[in-house]
Amino acid sequence: MGWTDERVSTLKKLWLEGLSASQIAKQLGGVTRNAVIGKVHRLGLSGRAAPSQPSRPVFRPARPRPAVAAQPAPRREPVVRPAAPVPAPVLDLPGTATVLTLGAHMCKWPIGDPSTDDFSFCGRRSGGEGPYCVEHSRVAYQPQQKKKHSPNELARSLRRYI
Ligand SMILES: [Zn+2]
Repeated sequence: MGWTDERVSTLKKLWLEGLSASQIAKQLGGVTRNAVIGKVHRLGLSGRAAPSQPSRPVFRPARPRPAVAAQPAPRREPVVRPAAPVPAPVLDLPGTATVLTLGAHMCKWPIGDPSTDDFSFCGRRSGGEGPYCVEHSRVAYQPQQKKKHSPNELARSLRRYI
């Protein structure tokens, strides 16, 4: 039996519906399975998608996220702080020199009220800046403008004493 237009269109229809060559041959009648396959090839229909193949979900590897460049913490230069002036005990002591005994290399830090007899001079060896001993020169020449400490800096400096 030859391929009439009707039979060819039926073949196309059945093929595209997903029937196998042998099923189509049975439906058409008068042709073999091989004849159907040959006709299908000649018609260029062989590229149909296999109907029984379940469409599988395609797993794509998750695209790696662009790595967020970790911001390196800004490196802070260690701040060299001058040692906080610790009140030396000597400041609380009475002076050891008077106007009469005060020498050239003695601390001229006035102690007490000049109008009283208790008034004296530190009188200790002047080893600091100016005519003062180390302790008194710290007091005399401490920076006028104290930098405003942020709470963080304050906590950090406090930690040194804990
Ligand atoms: Zn002194």
